[in-house]
Amino acid sequence: MRSNSRPRVLVTGGAGFLGSHLCERLLGEGHDVLCVDNFFTGSRHNVLHLLDNPRFELLRHDVTFPLYVEVDQIYNLACPASPIHYQYDPVQTTKTSVHGAINMLGLAKRVNAKILQASTSEVYGDPEVHPQPEGYWGRVNPVGPRACYDEGKRCAETLFFDYFRQHGLRIKVARIFNTYGPRMHPKDGRVVSNFIVQALGGQPITLYGDGQQTRSFCYVDDLIDGLIRLMNTPDDMTGPVNLGNPEEFTIRELAEQVLAQTGSKSSLLQEPLPQDDPRQRQPDISLAKSLLGWEPAVPLAEGLEHTIAYFRDGGSAV
Ligand code: NAD
Ligand code: UDP
Repeated sequence: MRSNSRPRVLVTGGAGFLGSHLCERLLGEGHDVLCVDNFFTGSRHNVLHLLDNPRFELLRHDVTFPLYVEVDQIYNLACPASPIHYQYDPVQTTKTSVHGAINMLGLAKRVNAKILQASTSEVYGDPEVHPQPEGYWGRVNPVGPRACYDEGKRCAETLFFDYFRQHGLRIKVARIFNTYGPRMHPKDGRVVSNFIVQALGGQPITLYGDGQQTRSFCYVDDLIDGLIRLMNTPDDMTGPVNLGNPEEFTIRELAEQVLAQTGSKSSLLQEPLPQDDPRQRQPDISLAKSLLGWEPAVPLAEGLEHTIAYFRDGGSAV
């Protein structure tokens, strides 16, 4: 750590959905926060309320280029997370995951910072093992439309573990499962924001496939708590650690829940299932429970209330 100062934390992708909540929480804990973002899917708007804080700094920068700053901890979140955004420019998505990881690991090595990677349940692909424990190696199509994200994130994990073995870097790898909450982009295309925006606007709810595929939804506050706990574990705890809410729902159940909670009369509109869409997903969080003493506290109905209120307000309340 730099002498005579509070821990200085770099959050890449800090102006995005998860990143903005993380910056906020870290500032609340007394850290200095440097938020780095190229504003591809995030926006200044997500961190407007933090700009007056003298311990907060915002820097426009693309992590595929080297970054020279002095920090004690790095949370590497920079990467579009929704399928429509990561498939918009798939080459840039892989570059962000892979070159971004190399640049941030190089930075961590130079300044001897601890570094946490926001990895994903997508490393398990369309899983045959259910629920997914960290020891499962996954089933990813390496040449499909999701591969730029899935394989990019897998390669980033490889890089993290090679820097750990080869250079003794202090690394942490979190495998994040579907997380939702305020500050999701309204046109982000992910299922929770899509369904809420459609329900509130009286538009049909777009159910891809038969809606029998499953996901497990974690509220953002729980997820941020898990990330910070993981960062603060002893140096020999590298992960990977699953972070997510193990309560599993079909996508049709989610649609019905959103309709009930918004009081919307929107109809359900079946659309084709995207290629390689995983049939099921549920985290095994035994490791997070034992290593971090962590498990989600916010049930879906409560998290949806907060998220619906955010979008009802025009998606601007911070
Ligand atoms: P998001 O799209 O809201 O945030 C990503 C942020 O990264 C955005 O602010 C974007 O502008 C920024 N970014 C993208 N490319 C960049 C680049 N090259 N240089 C600098 N900044 C760049 O998505 P999110 O949901 O907040 O996801 C944050 C991280 O968590 C991502 O790495 C994602 O893969 C991971 N994750 C999220 C979820 C989830 O359900 N939210 C699940 C698994 C993993
Ligand atoms: N989905 C849906 N309608 C939508 C958006 C998504 O039925 O408008 C489905 C999608 O096919 C997938 C699930 O919801 O089965 C979760 O999709 P999302 O893009 O949120 O996340 P991911 O597939 O990456 O888990």
